[in-house]
Amino acid sequence: MPRQKGTPDLDRLDRIVADARRARDEREQGYRAQALKLYPWICGRCAREFDRSNLHELTVHHKDHNHDNNPLDGSNWELLCLYCHDNEHQRYLEQPGASSGQRETRPAATHTPFADLASLLKQDE
Ligand SMILES: [Zn+2]
Ligand SMILES: [Zn+2]
Repeated sequence: MPRQKGTPDLDRLDRIVADARRARDEREQGYRAQALKLYPWICGRCAREFDRSNLHELTVHHKDHNHDNNPLDGSNWELLCLYCHDNEHQRYLEQPGASSGQRETRPAATHTPFADLASLLKQDE
């Protein structure tokens, strides 16, 4: 009897995706567990306290926003509640947008060197 196997390639792909997802989850579980061991279960921003019943709302934030930077002494981790964590990332996203605010200060900064140059040239004459 020939076995009717559906789509082996998709099966394989599914397995790869599942493996990658599990590896990420395990890594996340790893540093989260470590951070929860190191730090008191309190949000670093709003000081809300957590216990086993609501611990899933306490998340690990990476201070340098690099999730691959996980020193075991916890120096890159901060425990934040879901809301403060959200806030933190929004502030971080708004920071690079400062390019639009920089435009206002730039003309003033570029004017002065030219003024200096002009006065220097005059002194040479
Ligand atoms: Zn909070
Ligand atoms: Zn974060």
